[in-house]
Amino acid sequence: MDWALNLERIVLSLLRPMEDVLPLSVAPTMPFVAHDFGQTFSKSSDALRRIRADIVAGKLQPGQKLSFKFLVTCYDMGTSPLREALCQLAGQGMVELESQRGFRVAPVSRADLEDVIAMRAHAEIYAAGLSITRGNDAWRRNLGDASLAFTLVAAKAGDQRPIDERWEEIHRRFHFALIGACGSPTLLQFCKQISHRYDRYRRIAIPVQAVMAGPAQDHREITQAALSGNSKQAQSLLRRHIDDMAGVVLERYHRGAWMPKD
Ligand SMILES: [Zn+2]
Repeated sequence: MDWALNLERIVLSLLRPMEDVLPLSVAPTMPFVAHDFGQTFSKSSDALRRIRADIVAGKLQPGQKLSFKFLVTCYDMGTSPLREALCQLAGQGMVELESQRGFRVAPVSRADLEDVIAMRAHAEIYAAGLSITRGNDAWRRNLGDASLAFTLVAAKAGDQRPIDERWEEIHRRFHFALIGACGSPTLLQFCKQISHRYDRYRRIAIPVQAVMAGPAQDHREITQAALSGNSKQAQSLLRRHIDDMAGVVLERYHRGAWMPKD
Protein backbone atom coordinates (compact mmCIF):
# COMPACT_ATOMS: atom_id res chain seq x y z
CA MET A 1 0.00 0.00 0.00
CA ASP A 2 1.18 3.50 -0.78
CA TRP A 3 2.81 4.69 2.47
CA ALA A 4 1.59 8.30 2.16
CA LEU A 5 -2.00 7.16 1.70
CA ASN A 6 -1.62 4.80 4.63
CA LEU A 7 -0.22 7.58 6.83
CA GLU A 8 -3.07 9.88 5.82
CA ARG A 9 -5.60 7.23 6.83
CA ILE A 10 -3.94 6.73 10.21
CA VAL A 11 -3.80 10.45 10.94
CA LEU A 12 -7.41 10.99 9.86
CA SER A 13 -8.56 8.06 11.97
CA LEU A 14 -6.88 9.75 14.96
CA LEU A 15 -8.19 13.18 14.07
CA ARG A 16 -11.84 12.27 13.63
CA PRO A 17 -12.60 10.83 17.08
CA MET A 18 -10.60 13.64 18.69
CA GLU A 19 -12.59 16.20 16.75
CA ASP A 20 -15.78 14.51 17.82
CA VAL A 21 -14.95 15.11 21.47
CA LEU A 22 -12.95 18.29 21.11
CA PRO A 23 -14.29 20.79 18.57
CA LEU A 24 -11.29 21.95 16.56
CA SER A 25 -12.91 24.87 14.82
CA VAL A 26 -11.37 28.14 15.89
CA ALA A 27 -13.59 30.33 13.75
CA PRO A 28 -17.04 28.78 14.06
CA THR A 29 -18.57 30.52 11.10
CA MET A 30 -15.85 29.32 8.74
CA PRO A 31 -15.83 25.84 7.22
CA PHE A 32 -13.28 23.45 8.71
CA VAL A 33 -10.93 22.07 6.07
CA ALA A 34 -8.18 19.56 6.79
CA HIS A 35 -5.71 21.41 4.58
CA ASP A 36 -2.84 19.05 5.30
CA PHE A 37 -4.72 16.12 3.85
CA GLY A 38 -6.50 17.85 0.98
CA GLN A 39 -9.81 16.62 2.36
CA THR A 40 -12.88 18.46 3.52
CA PHE A 41 -14.97 17.09 6.37
CA SER A 42 -18.51 16.25 5.38
CA LYS A 43 -20.74 19.25 4.92
CA SER A 44 -23.19 18.11 7.57
CA SER A 45 -20.48 17.74 10.24
CA ASP A 46 -19.14 21.14 9.20
CA ALA A 47 -22.64 22.61 9.53
CA LEU A 48 -23.10 20.91 12.90
CA ARG A 49 -19.83 22.31 14.26
CA ARG A 50 -20.46 25.84 13.03
CA ILE A 51 -24.09 26.15 14.10
CA ARG A 52 -23.33 24.61 17.52
CA ALA A 53 -20.42 27.03 18.05
CA ASP A 54 -22.66 29.96 17.14
CA ILE A 55 -25.37 28.78 19.56
CA VAL A 56 -22.80 28.35 22.36
CA ALA A 57 -21.40 31.81 21.61
CA GLY A 58 -24.90 33.33 21.70
CA LYS A 59 -24.63 34.55 18.10
CA LEU A 60 -27.72 32.44 17.47
CA GLN A 61 -29.88 33.47 20.39
CA PRO A 62 -32.09 31.35 22.65
CA GLY A 63 -35.45 30.82 20.97
CA GLN A 64 -34.31 32.26 17.63
CA LYS A 65 -36.10 30.77 14.63
CA LEU A 66 -33.76 28.91 12.29
CA SER A 67 -35.29 29.16 8.84
CA PHE A 68 -33.50 27.41 6.01
CA LYS A 69 -33.53 30.63 4.02
CA PHE A 70 -31.56 32.33 6.77
CA LEU A 71 -29.22 29.38 7.33
CA VAL A 72 -28.45 28.85 3.63
CA THR A 73 -27.38 32.49 3.36
CA CYS A 74 -25.56 32.56 6.69
CA TYR A 75 -23.58 29.33 6.29
CA ASP A 76 -23.37 29.24 2.50
CA MET A 77 -24.47 25.64 2.07
CA GLY A 78 -27.48 23.67 0.88
CA THR A 79 -30.50 22.59 2.89
CA SER A 80 -29.57 18.86 3.11
CA PRO A 81 -26.45 19.21 5.30
CA LEU A 82 -28.19 21.94 7.30
CA ARG A 83 -31.22 19.74 7.95
CA GLU A 84 -28.98 16.86 9.03
CA ALA A 85 -27.04 19.16 11.36
CA LEU A 86 -30.24 20.57 12.89
CA CYS A 87 -31.62 17.06 13.52
CA GLN A 88 -28.40 16.13 15.33
CA LEU A 89 -28.49 19.36 17.33
CA ALA A 90 -32.10 18.62 18.28
CA GLY A 91 -30.90 15.27 19.63
CA GLN A 92 -28.28 17.12 21.66
CA GLY A 93 -30.78 19.55 23.18
CA MET A 94 -29.32 22.60 21.42
CA VAL A 95 -32.18 23.01 18.95
CA GLU A 96 -35.91 22.30 19.07
CA LEU A 97 -38.11 21.02 16.28
CA GLU A 98 -41.64 22.40 16.42
CA SER A 99 -44.36 20.64 14.50
CA GLN A 100 -45.27 22.63 11.36
CA ARG A 101 -42.97 25.48 12.40
CA GLY A 102 -39.49 24.17 11.78
CA PHE A 103 -36.42 24.57 13.94
CA ARG A 104 -35.47 27.12 16.55
CA VAL A 105 -32.58 27.50 19.01
CA ALA A 106 -33.46 25.80 22.31
CA PRO A 107 -34.73 28.36 24.81
CA VAL A 108 -33.04 28.95 28.15
CA SER A 109 -34.62 28.74 31.58
CA ARG A 110 -33.54 28.62 35.18
CA ALA A 111 -34.88 25.08 35.54
CA ASP A 112 -32.89 23.92 32.51
CA LEU A 113 -29.75 25.69 33.76
CA GLU A 114 -30.02 24.01 37.18
CA ASP A 115 -30.62 20.64 35.53
CA VAL A 116 -27.65 21.07 33.19
CA ILE A 117 -25.33 22.11 36.05
CA ALA A 118 -26.37 19.13 38.19
CA MET A 119 -26.00 16.61 35.36
CA ARG A 120 -22.70 18.03 34.18
CA ALA A 121 -21.22 17.84 37.68
CA HIS A 122 -22.53 14.34 38.29
CA ALA A 123 -21.30 12.89 34.99
CA GLU A 124 -17.96 14.68 34.82
CA ILE A 125 -16.95 13.96 38.42
CA TYR A 126 -17.85 10.29 38.00
CA ALA A 127 -15.93 10.12 34.70
CA ALA A 128 -12.91 11.80 36.32
CA GLY A 129 -12.81 9.14 39.04
CA LEU A 130 -12.83 6.34 36.46
CA SER A 131 -10.26 8.10 34.32
CA ILE A 132 -7.78 8.65 37.15
CA THR A 133 -8.04 4.99 38.10
CA ARG A 134 -7.60 3.76 34.52
CA GLY A 135 -5.31 6.39 33.00
CA ASN A 136 -1.99 5.32 31.48
CA ASP A 137 1.20 7.26 30.69
CA ALA A 138 -0.26 8.70 27.48
CA TRP A 139 -3.26 9.99 29.44
CA ARG A 140 -0.95 11.53 32.05
CA ARG A 141 1.12 13.30 29.38
CA ASN A 142 -1.99 14.58 27.63
CA LEU A 143 -3.49 15.88 30.88
CA GLY A 144 -0.26 17.65 31.80
CA ASP A 145 -0.07 19.24 28.33
CA ALA A 146 -3.72 20.33 28.44
CA SER A 147 -3.31 21.89 31.88
CA LEU A 148 -0.19 23.77 30.77
CA ALA A 149 -1.91 24.98 27.59
CA PHE A 150 -4.75 26.45 29.64
CA THR A 151 -2.33 28.12 32.03
CA LEU A 152 -0.72 29.89 29.06
CA VAL A 153 -4.02 31.47 27.93
CA ALA A 154 -5.50 32.00 31.39
CA ALA A 155 -6.64 35.51 32.14
CA LYS A 156 -5.63 37.80 34.95
CA ALA A 157 -8.39 39.00 37.26
CA GLY A 158 -10.43 41.77 35.65
CA ASP A 159 -9.39 40.87 32.11
CA GLN A 160 -12.01 42.36 29.80
CA ARG A 161 -11.04 40.41 26.68
CA PRO A 162 -13.99 38.49 25.28
CA ILE A 163 -14.05 34.73 25.63
CA ASP A 164 -13.57 33.36 22.13
CA GLU A 165 -13.56 29.97 20.44
CA ARG A 166 -9.84 29.48 21.04
CA TRP A 167 -10.28 29.94 24.78
CA GLU A 168 -13.27 27.59 24.75
CA GLU A 169 -11.30 24.97 22.84
CA ILE A 170 -8.34 25.04 25.24
CA HIS A 171 -10.58 25.01 28.30
CA ARG A 172 -12.61 22.14 26.89
CA ARG A 173 -9.45 20.25 26.01
CA PHE A 174 -8.42 20.24 29.68
CA HIS A 175 -11.73 18.89 30.92
CA PHE A 176 -11.84 16.14 28.31
CA ALA A 177 -8.19 15.25 28.87
CA LEU A 178 -9.05 14.70 32.55
CA ILE A 179 -11.92 12.30 31.83
CA GLY A 180 -10.47 10.88 28.60
CA ALA A 181 -9.41 7.55 30.12
CA CYS A 182 -12.76 6.79 31.75
CA GLY A 183 -13.23 3.95 29.26
CA SER A 184 -16.89 4.66 28.47
CA PRO A 185 -17.72 6.17 25.04
CA THR A 186 -21.33 6.57 26.20
CA LEU A 187 -20.29 8.58 29.24
CA LEU A 188 -17.88 10.70 27.15
CA GLN A 189 -20.62 11.39 24.62
CA PHE A 190 -23.01 12.48 27.37
CA CYS A 191 -20.33 14.70 28.94
CA LYS A 192 -19.69 16.28 25.55
CA GLN A 193 -23.34 17.08 24.94
CA ILE A 194 -24.04 18.42 28.42
CA SER A 195 -20.87 20.54 28.34
CA HIS A 196 -22.02 22.29 25.16
CA ARG A 197 -25.33 23.09 26.83
CA TYR A 198 -23.57 24.36 29.97
CA ASP A 199 -21.02 26.37 27.99
CA ARG A 200 -23.83 28.25 26.27
CA TYR A 201 -25.15 29.49 29.62
CA ARG A 202 -21.65 30.33 30.84
CA ARG A 203 -20.72 32.11 27.63
CA ILE A 204 -23.84 34.29 27.65
CA ALA A 205 -23.56 34.98 31.39
CA ILE A 206 -19.80 35.63 31.38
CA PRO A 207 -18.80 37.00 27.96
CA VAL A 208 -15.42 38.34 29.10
CA GLN A 209 -12.49 36.72 30.90
CA ALA A 210 -12.84 38.93 34.01
CA VAL A 211 -13.64 36.08 36.42
CA MET A 212 -11.63 33.41 34.64
CA ALA A 213 -8.35 33.82 36.53
CA GLY A 214 -9.45 31.31 39.19
CA PRO A 215 -10.04 28.36 36.86
CA ALA A 216 -6.34 28.16 35.88
CA GLN A 217 -5.35 27.62 39.52
CA ASP A 218 -8.22 25.12 39.86
CA HIS A 219 -6.98 23.22 36.81
CA ARG A 220 -3.44 23.05 38.18
CA GLU A 221 -4.63 21.68 41.52
CA ILE A 222 -6.95 19.15 39.86
CA THR A 223 -4.10 18.04 37.59
CA GLN A 224 -1.72 17.60 40.52
CA ALA A 225 -4.21 15.46 42.42
CA ALA A 226 -5.09 13.42 39.31
CA LEU A 227 -1.48 12.76 38.36
CA SER A 228 -0.67 11.66 41.90
CA GLY A 229 -3.54 9.17 41.66
CA ASN A 230 -5.60 10.82 44.39
CA SER A 231 -8.98 10.46 42.71
CA LYS A 232 -11.00 11.54 45.76
CA GLN A 233 -9.11 14.81 46.08
CA ALA A 234 -9.24 15.44 42.33
CA GLN A 235 -13.00 14.81 42.31
CA SER A 236 -13.48 17.14 45.28
CA LEU A 237 -11.46 19.89 43.56
CA LEU A 238 -13.38 19.35 40.31
CA ARG A 239 -16.66 19.63 42.24
CA ARG A 240 -15.50 22.95 43.69
CA HIS A 241 -14.35 24.16 40.26
CA ILE A 242 -17.71 23.35 38.65
CA ASP A 243 -19.76 24.68 41.60
CA ASP A 244 -17.85 27.98 41.82
CA MET A 245 -18.40 28.85 38.17
CA ALA A 246 -21.96 27.55 38.18
CA GLY A 247 -22.64 29.80 41.17
CA VAL A 248 -21.55 32.85 39.19
CA VAL A 249 -23.65 31.82 36.18
CA LEU A 250 -26.73 31.20 38.38
CA GLU A 251 -26.28 34.48 40.22
CA ARG A 252 -26.14 36.37 36.92
CA TYR A 253 -29.18 34.52 35.70
CA HIS A 254 -31.00 35.41 38.93
CA ARG A 255 -30.20 39.08 38.39
CA GLY A 256 -31.86 38.70 35.01
CA ALA A 257 -29.41 40.95 33.25
CA TRP A 258 -28.85 38.64 30.31
CA MET A 259 -32.09 36.81 29.68
CA PRO A 260 -35.77 37.03 30.54
CA LYS A 261 -36.75 35.50 33.87
CA ASP A 262 -39.20 32.63 33.83
ZN1 LIG B 1 -12.44 24.38 33.86
